[in-house]
Amino acid sequence: MRTLVVDHPLVAHKLTTLRDSATDSPTFRRLVDELVTLLAYEATRDVRTTPVRVETPVAPADGVRLAAPKPLVVPVLRAGLGMLDGMTRLMPTAEVGFLGMIRDEETLEATTYATRLPADLSSRQCYVLDPMLATGGTLAAAIRYLIERGAAEVTAICLLVAPEGIDALERQLSGFDVPITVVTAAVDERLNDKGYIVPGLGDAGDRLYGVV
Ligand code: URA
Repeated sequence: MRTLVVDHPLVAHKLTTLRDSATDSPTFRRLVDELVTLLAYEATRDVRTTPVRVETPVAPADGVRLAAPKPLVVPVLRAGLGMLDGMTRLMPTAEVGFLGMIRDEETLEATTYATRLPADLSSRQCYVLDPMLATGGTLAAAIRYLIERGAAEVTAICLLVAPEGIDALERQLSGFDVPITVVTAAVDERLNDKGYIVPGLGDAGDRLYGVV
């Protein structure tokens, strides 16, 4: 598994404002959107393309288009939904599937409560959106779900990750022979005893959508 930390001043600037507890929900949502587009730019560096020729007003030109089957973007509900627009803005022709996973706050175990995905993901490049890689349980379960349905490659885009989450993914997904990449704005210090990333940005779902 590969972890790619996007080292760019605009990424760092937006992340700092996201971390600030004084940032209100509308600003938080807008910044998540902008930050995801920047992370997605790096995350899609190896997206598959096919050569095409077009006619400019002046002459033929050789270029590329996204190859079939189209990439699949999978936000992990609920907080991953706040990352969807930022991702599809960059790759509007991608298909979108949904994976509803919830973390038990006592056991920190992830369970699936809703799915809307193609049954067969053979040859698909999949982009999972999950803002916080904390204990790793939810993201590992989501990635396993996609690989078991045939995904050819999985890239997870996370705003922030904890070292414990990266270790957990490496442990839990080591048996799969499929390229897995985590793209993030920063690797933080650690998890606290409630499973929150330190210093982190708090509960991403609550900050996006309020406490429900
Ligand atoms: N989920 C969050 O939203 N925040 C954390 O810090 C950890 C998990």
